[in-house]
Amino acid sequence: MRQKTKFIFITGGVLSSLGKGLTSASLAALLKAKGLSVSMQKLDPYLNLDPGTMNPRQHGEVFVTDDGAETDMDLGHYERYLGTPMTRRSSFTAGRIYSQVLAKERRGDYLGGTVQVIPHVTDEVKEAILSMSSHDLDVVLVEVGGTVGDIEGQPFLEALRQLKGEMGKNRCLFLHLTLVPYLSTTGEPKTKPTQHSVKELRSIGIQPDIIVCRSSRPISQDSKTKIALFCDVSKDAVFTAMDVENIYELPIKLHEQGLERKVSSLLRLGRREPDIAPWVDLVKRQASLTESVSIAIVGKYVELIEAYKSLHEALTHGGLAHNARIDFNYINAEDLKSSNLEKYLGQAQGILVPGGFGPRGIEGMILAVGYARRKKTPYFGICLGMQCAVIEFSRHQAGLTKADSEEFKPKSHHRVIFRMTGWYDPNTGLRAQRNPDDDLGGSMRLGSYPCRLTPGTKAREAYGVDLVHERHRHRFEFNPDYINILTKHGLVISGQMPESPLENPDMPSPKLVEVVELANHPWFLGCQFHPEFKSSPMRPHPLFKAFIGAALKNTHAEEKKEPKEPRESKGGKKA
Ligand code: GLN
Repeated sequence: MRQKTKFIFITGGVLSSLGKGLTSASLAALLKAKGLSVSMQKLDPYLNLDPGTMNPRQHGEVFVTDDGAETDMDLGHYERYLGTPMTRRSSFTAGRIYSQVLAKERRGDYLGGTVQVIPHVTDEVKEAILSMSSHDLDVVLVEVGGTVGDIEGQPFLEALRQLKGEMGKNRCLFLHLTLVPYLSTTGEPKTKPTQHSVKELRSIGIQPDIIVCRSSRPISQDSKTKIALFCDVSKDAVFTAMDVENIYELPIKLHEQGLERKVSSLLRLGRREPDIAPWVDLVKRQASLTESVSIAIVGKYVELIEAYKSLHEALTHGGLAHNARIDFNYINAEDLKSSNLEKYLGQAQGILVPGGFGPRGIEGMILAVGYARRKKTPYFGICLGMQCAVIEFSRHQAGLTKADSEEFKPKSHHRVIFRMTGWYDPNTGLRAQRNPDDDLGGSMRLGSYPCRLTPGTKAREAYGVDLVHERHRHRFEFNPDYINILTKHGLVISGQMPESPLENPDMPSPKLVEVVELANHPWFLGCQFHPEFKSSPMRPHPLFKAFIGAALKNTHAEEKKEPKEPRESKGGKKA
């Protein structure tokens, strides 16, 4: 019989952005490679209900789960390293915790008591953590966002402190990630910030069991011994998370130092060695890529590449499937004009327009679509990129010169992309309603929906199956009133949400359009969903694999990139 689910609580100190998410995901991957069943959870101390309304230029990508939660981008790392889908329970913000507490207060659940951080908020946090526990899970890694000492993080840490006492020995452990900087003047590693950070943690009543030090260089045994002594952990419980060139090396580096062995002995998780061969193989393949392919990404959040994290990774995975390195060229859509398209896009072997919200940069994206269509450059449009493709096609191939999206021109004469207020939801068997008055979170189609692919299309060919499930995050849709006119002019509808079942004959089924493509083009595809969320290094997503495959064949752009040496004339001189 399985034991109760065990927990690893991961906190961070000194600085943010030390790679806590990657370290957590790497450790999770190692435990999974031991044959354990593992899941993960992220607790974010900020007060937004979820990151859905946060600007990607500030906070990075919003990741979406199958069950439609808008979450922190760390969940993307978790899925890519673990290969298992996360759920709504895998992501809690302080805002969500507080709103649950306040809802209970309004319902009278607290029986007239004064509502306080301890015990009401901390109980809610504990409930959120324990909701992850399940009879078929061996371990859950819980990462607390932010750094120790942040005001907002206090209730989370207090909840963890209480859980430690309630769970008892061998059922949970604390891993603390800190920074060990090097001073160039003395060439020494400095352990003081780590000591201070652990002191801060201990002042809340949490003693770390394991310390992982982020560092640009290997940390000597002397320094590790010093950290162990000052921070009161055993000498074999101090590890280094070295800067790595390739993030998928991290599980191997941590394994080499025995991190999962230490965790396993503290939590009694068995002595079985993890099978890290797939990770070694992956890193080896990444180090020996023989080709390269240049991809232009025309987006609106390009100042912060983190805003496109899953997309960036998915392109890398697609390249890996063809033994090719991606030369990324992120282009700000606002910089594009008809006069400079050749300069910006002429050398791209593939052009991608990713997701986004709001009118800024749209006309630049539409120009990029038109360029890809005319020059036969492989094109991949994702969500907003698909909508731009539909607008461009309507304006320049179907004679609807004023075609637009309701999002950008609400009064446009031809709203080829529009806000659909209701549709049949095959997930629930019910009619789903999108209310124009809903708040920002409530008005979107979120999470996984089925999509039936049209035989004989590029999409069907790429996937190799008829029915797929992909994740959505958008308010606007392809307007079904335009299906006829656009297909008559050559647009191919290659994926649609399945119709309503026969049990509901009265239910109007608008057959939402999910994928469009062009027939007379090497590879031109737009999808309403976000395939990047489901790509992982071990299983590159079929659409990214197909897009990169097509881009690699686009030697036309390649030739422009490196003008070939003039050939010797073959004119029989040797004769
Ligand atoms: N802004 C568009 C919509 O809401 C596209 C969204 C996206 O690209 N994720 O429909």
